[in-house]
Amino acid sequence: MPLYICPTPIGNLEDITLRVLRILKESDVIFAEDTRRARILLSKYDIESKRLYSYNKDNWRKRIPLLESLLLEGKIVSLISDAGTPGISDMGVEAIRLCVDKDFKVEVLPGPTAFVPALLLSTFTPHPFLFYGFLPSQRGRRRKVLSSLKSLPFTLVFYEAPHRISESLCDILEVLGDRRGCLVREISKVHEEALRGKISELLERSKDLKGEMVLVIEGCLKEPEVKEDSLEDKILLLMKEGFSSKEIAQELHDKFGLSKKEVYKKVLELKGRGEF
Ligand code: SAM
Repeated sequence: MPLYICPTPIGNLEDITLRVLRILKESDVIFAEDTRRARILLSKYDIESKRLYSYNKDNWRKRIPLLESLLLEGKIVSLISDAGTPGISDMGVEAIRLCVDKDFKVEVLPGPTAFVPALLLSTFTPHPFLFYGFLPSQRGRRRKVLSSLKSLPFTLVFYEAPHRISESLCDILEVLGDRRGCLVREISKVHEEALRGKISELLERSKDLKGEMVLVIEGCLKEPEVKEDSLEDKILLLMKEGFSSKEIAQELHDKFGLSKKEVYKKVLELKGRGEF
């Protein structure tokens, strides 16, 4: 029997597919990120008296052998997370890896996840996009990640917690600049809202925001800069290959139409700086 990865609602409890409900009904065992929340969902759909095991970031390592033995016994096993699709920003992916590594069948059922509605509500180009999930909580590491995303021409999607949103927006403003962004809160719930504006504006409005949120940031719109030192790079490369100054000037003139005089001057400058 396969392991079934079952997406569950991220807000409105009606956001669940008929197939997920059938699979949950047929399951012998359900692994759930939070068994209490799982019981509320299951009882709404009259799926009672199921064997439930918790499976979350604190205990997944201990749970994997149990999951494996149940699959070996031929039990029908499902995995659900707190909300949305297991594996998206939680430890569900480890259960999927187990199945692939040990040759158990695994079926990932399509269904709700928070980043898709947020991406579309942002109105930024939906593809290409980059789903990052949660930024690191430590400031230095967060800024490093942001620097690596700075020049990507992709819409960027982050998950965030309300107590960290202002800190993250501060860093995003400093590292990525004052781009446009969209903060989508409480998707598929009564107080759903999408705040759109410059990052500086979102930062101002983020102070007392509550609830679950997804932050979408417009990708880099600038053309990639031609690196100023690219002539230097080209020259250094040829020097390393053993070309003489004269040959370098000729080569770069032939290949890129650069002035032989300018190239020659630069070669002498680099040699003077002891670069080679
Ligand atoms: N597995 C989930 C999914 O498929 O989207 C994500 C789980 S992750 C642990 C929880 C994060 O998802 C929240 O901090 C928030 O960023 C986002 N999220 C979940 N439900 C949401 C909702 N209704 N509205 C906005 N964001 C939500």
